[in-house]
Amino acid sequence: MTRSYNFYAGPATLPLEVLEEAQANFCDYQNSGMSIMESSHRGKEYDAIHAEAIANYKELMNIPEGYSVLLLQGGASTQFAVIPMNLLGDGQTADYINTGAWAGKAIKEAKLFGNVNVVADTSNCVPATIPAINSIDYTDGAEYLHITSNETISGAQWKEFPKCDAPLIADMSSDILSREINVADFGMIYAGAQKNLGPSGCALVIIRDDLAEKVVRTNPTIFQYKTHVSKNSLYNTPASFTIYMMCLVTRWIKKTGKTNLFEQNVRKAKKIYDLIDSSDFYTGCADKAYRSDMNVTFTMPTKELEAMFLEESVKNNMWGLKGHRDVGGLRASIYNAFPEEGVDKLVELMKNFEQKS
Ligand SMILES: *Cc1c(COP(=O)(O)O)cnc(C)c1O
Repeated sequence: MTRSYNFYAGPATLPLEVLEEAQANFCDYQNSGMSIMESSHRGKEYDAIHAEAIANYKELMNIPEGYSVLLLQGGASTQFAVIPMNLLGDGQTADYINTGAWAGKAIKEAKLFGNVNVVADTSNCVPATIPAINSIDYTDGAEYLHITSNETISGAQWKEFPKCDAPLIADMSSDILSREINVADFGMIYAGAQKNLGPSGCALVIIRDDLAEKVVRTNPTIFQYKTHVSKNSLYNTPASFTIYMMCLVTRWIKKTGKTNLFEQNVRKAKKIYDLIDSSDFYTGCADKAYRSDMNVTFTMPTKELEAMFLEESVKNNMWGLKGHRDVGGLRASIYNAFPEEGVDKLVELMKNFEQKS
């Protein structure tokens, strides 16, 4: 088997050893005579996985006391709505920072529930950028401040997080567990699983108790954080197979060593940015101070050249390098599990292509 280099933005590449482990246990999980997919979510096999995944997130992210780790269906997009549904009452105000496409989607949902004050907006900036944290004028008494820690489409990433009185809520879908962060600085962190954590089908939610307990209106039971906190994300059937895969990915991160992984992430991105910076042929799409270590976005002198490059990349078994349809250009998504050797191959292809053109 030849593994493809998967540069897609998500679902994204998974560690080969995780896939192989799942394969080895696919039909018969630990001599139970059935797949983990077929096992009861109340049974001891699944229960151990569920508990281990949560414990591993707590360990890997140093999650302090006073926070719950939830594994919820509906992806990050469901959280765009469930956050204001639970935390933003009628007539109350939440601050949002609009850094691009994903932040914009979160803002759209919040407006259905309360007042949204967009306290900084870089969504139309070229190159893509992030607001300077000391320039932001927060709303007094806002219920929370929402940010998108990494804009997956434009390739701009917060490097330092804003500090304000309101609880900070971050959509970390595309950079969770890719770098060291201090969970205590946040009221809530959430992420769709399919970029850095596993396959699609689940969102990881880390929420502080005071926020999880907040009731601003009567919501359906399934859309209340307190339901999932009190039932340890087993109120209804969880995405058990996805969570099994997520658990295997946490084991892989522990084995690799998160420090090694985080250093490798910086190194991988730097290899591509160094080439972009040393060339007149490639242009980075994000402000240097805020460029993403997860999604490297760039353009070439013409669209024709970009199309030719994409054709060549596919011939070299590199997939998913086309930029998002809204912004064009090229994008290399290089999440945790993306092998460094694939980045080296891309850099080599880019160098050769520039010389030939
Ligand atoms: C991919 C992505 C989402 C959407 O996640 P879903 O799980 O598909 O809903 C939200 N926010 C960011 C930053 C993303 O990269």
